Amino acid sequence: MKTLEVAVVGSGPAGLYTAEALIKQAAALDPPVVIRVDVIDRLLTPYGLVRYGVAPDHKSIKSIADYLRTVLEHDAVRFIGGIHLGDDVTRADLLASYDAVVYATGAMRDRRLGIPGEDMPGSYAATDFVNWYCGHPDIDPAAFSLDAESVAVIGVGNVAVDVARILVKDPAQLRETDISEPVLAALEASKVREVHVIGRRGPAQAKFTTKELRELGELDGVDVVVGDGEHDLDAFDATGESSRLAQTDRHVRGNYTVISGWAARPPAGAARRLTVRFWLRPTEIQGAEKVTGLTLERTKLDADGVLTGTGAHETLPAQLVLRSVGYQSVPLPGLPFDERSSTVPNADGRVLDTAGRPLPGEYVAGWLKRGPTGVIGTNKSDAAQTVRSLLADLAGGPGPGDVQLPRAGLLRFPAAAAGGAAAGTAAAAESAAAGTAAAVTAATDPAAFRFHQLLADRGIRPVSYADWLRIEVAERELGAALGRGARVKLPSRGELHRHSGGPGPR
Ligand code: NAP
Repeated sequence: MKTLEVAVVGSGPAGLYTAEALIKQAAALDPPVVIRVDVIDRLLTPYGLVRYGVAPDHKSIKSIADYLRTVLEHDAVRFIGGIHLGDDVTRADLLASYDAVVYATGAMRDRRLGIPGEDMPGSYAATDFVNWYCGHPDIDPAAFSLDAESVAVIGVGNVAVDVARILVKDPAQLRETDISEPVLAALEASKVREVHVIGRRGPAQAKFTTKELRELGELDGVDVVVGDGEHDLDAFDATGESSRLAQTDRHVRGNYTVISGWAARPPAGAARRLTVRFWLRPTEIQGAEKVTGLTLERTKLDADGVLTGTGAHETLPAQLVLRSVGYQSVPLPGLPFDERSSTVPNADGRVLDTAGRPLPGEYVAGWLKRGPTGVIGTNKSDAAQTVRSLLADLAGGPGPGDVQLPRAGLLRFPAAAAGGAAAGTAAAAESAAAGTAAAVTAATDPAAFRFHQLLADRGIRPVSYADWLRIEVAERELGAALGRGARVKLPSRGELHRHSGGPGPR
């Protein structure tokens, strides 16, 4: 029986839920389809945003990695780390190797504010700060020294809540987390006393979820205050929509209850203060050589529900500005990309060309497919939809010898593809695959065999699941040696490489 061989690019939640859906849905087909999934990631480590996006103190969300691990450890799944689509392999390489490719590379770029001073030293994308405290290998562990006393966080979504919490939280409470030693040291030495979280609209329009918001008010040693009168639902909204939402929408009601509770609470004189501001939009980041403050303009919703500036400005002193206004996907080389929505054009996960036709064998899942919305679990149903499309195409895909694809379908399936691979150098491919959970052979995995051979021909040794497990062991040992929690993240790309037993940093 021919095995369906699929490459999934990206080992975050979207990629691993895709791998899981492929296994489950292929097994449920009548007759069942045997499947192999290679999960390819540019990093040496799996789990994407679960490892490098979820805040270290959100242990229950991070424990999703325990579930995703069971996907990675499935016999039909193989992790191929340290392979960058673009630098190491091309889209054409993947399409030539696998029956289908699912792109699930997420959204790793920050959205821009487009105001003067945005790129001044001291103004950062919140994504950089998140990467830093999560120990992402792309960010220098010394990137943030936190000598600012006042920090402005622009945006009122869950990322803003995360970065504000990490900034004001007692670092002693982070010792039990996996936060890396240099980051913990920087937080312990932090001079931050005041964090302002700033929304351009009101409490009823804020994006944060109530559970995450409530947590801010429960932090030891932190006063949470709301800008004077800014929790008022009618003062800045001529449409009356804010008040209506606070009565009819569960999410808004929950947030509003928390915010109005804070507004009624007198500050207790705590060492750190978190101020939540509404109806203010940033117009300029001030400073000569580095950030000294932020100019904000008072906003309101006019009778037509349009957000307008009132012309009233204020200056907020701040030495660090974190722009937390959402993520964006980046285009993948050669793949169609809609610059407006920053997503890959698709129909139920089938990648579409510029004429709106499905591209055979190419699919997309997660934030790259639908934009940076929802919680981690949202990616499960999203991935399941993409996989349904993929397997439906399998049924109507091309037969052996078909040149013209009858319609959107998989690339070769069910053609016997072993011939080309068998002509290759088995030793090269097999040594490239050394250390992977299951050996790659031309007989059992012709597609993966071809891919490994291609890497070997280019002198690239991928990071295997076994290599990743070595990193995990090193992180657990570090946690034990430091007397901290179950694990502590290795602090840099070099350390990750050293412990993986793989090649040096690239
Ligand atoms: P988000 O939820 O889309 O929030 C972005 C915020 O930026 C909004 O308040 C938005 O205001 C504001 N904004 C956008 N452009 C702006 C501008 N030019 N000037 C001022 N403000 C601007 O994005 P996010 O916080 O990055 O979160 C991304 C996704 O990850 C979300 O789905 C989130 O729930 C999820 N996430 C979840 C968790 C968790 O569950 N714990 C943690 C982190 C992230 P407007 O509404 O006015 O546009």
